[in-house]
Amino acid sequence: MRWRPTFMAEVFESLLRLGLKACPLCGSAESLSMSPFPAILVDGEFPDDIDAPSELEGGDLTFAVRIECTTCGHLMLFNAQRYRTGDARIIENGITEEEGRPLGRPVRNLPGLR
Ligand SMILES: [Zn+2]
Repeated sequence: MRWRPTFMAEVFESLLRLGLKACPLCGSAESLSMSPFPAILVDGEFPDDIDAPSELEGGDLTFAVRIECTTCGHLMLFNAQRYRTGDARIIENGITEEEGRPLGRPVRNLPGLR
């Protein structure tokens, strides 16, 4: 389970528009990276099946976009629901070439930050 690339690009653009041009802690403009995997936050009792994107529609799960500064380790989470357009699919399942990577490892730098 990971973000769709188109959704990641949309979130990138939105965050840039909102002013996230550098790490708010150490000020580095080149070290912010976005995880291709959702960070799942549980609000309440832990559910039996967290593999169901339909949970995005509500309930006790928050799917968060995770941005990490590779310089100082500052972590930022953004509620994916806020960046979703209508009922667009934002998560894709299945085997991809990214599947073998450790969770949370940065694979791509935010574009346009220099
Ligand atoms: Zn930093």
